[in-house]
Amino acid sequence: MSLEKTLVILKPSTVQRGLVGEITARFERKGLRLAGMKMMQLTDELLNEHYAHLANKPFFSRVKNSMMASPVIACCYEGVDAVQVVRSMTGATNGRAAAPGTIRGDYCVSAQENIVHTSDSPQNATEELNRFFKPEELFDYTLCTQSYLNYAEERD
Ligand code: ADP
Repeated sequence: MSLEKTLVILKPSTVQRGLVGEITARFERKGLRLAGMKMMQLTDELLNEHYAHLANKPFFSRVKNSMMASPVIACCYEGVDAVQVVRSMTGATNGRAAAPGTIRGDYCVSAQENIVHTSDSPQNATEELNRFFKPEELFDYTLCTQSYLNYAEERD
């Protein structure tokens, strides 16, 4: 168990379809702490870094264009094992294959227009948060509900 921060990006499809409230409500309801949130317009340069692992894929340009089609909302959530928790809530990459009950399973029908990006490992979460947020854009405050979310040893 470890207290982690992870990156969620509400993609242009979420912003355009008016799903920002519904998706962020899921993370709030789960009990994750919102440590940072901002609207931003992604650039080709930033996406070349963020999606470097897709550079050889035939859909690379199309995915980047999709991510630049409108502003996105970058969010940092914190919680015990937050990377895995958020990844489980996200579901499989292809919305048609994603299990019902997951975000992608409930809100999308596409391999590309799949609503959210979420970090897939603690190491990538750290790298991605550094890429998308300045240190002063992430806030350390205590949720007044904290003792109802975890017992103390879980957070140590
Ligand atoms: P994930 O977002 O689930 O971590 P990847 O890192 O493999 O998945 O891919 C990044 C993004 O690229 C996906 O979220 C999706 O938008 C797009 N993508 C991945 N695979 C495909 C595909 N086969 N066809 C179209 N778009 C894809």
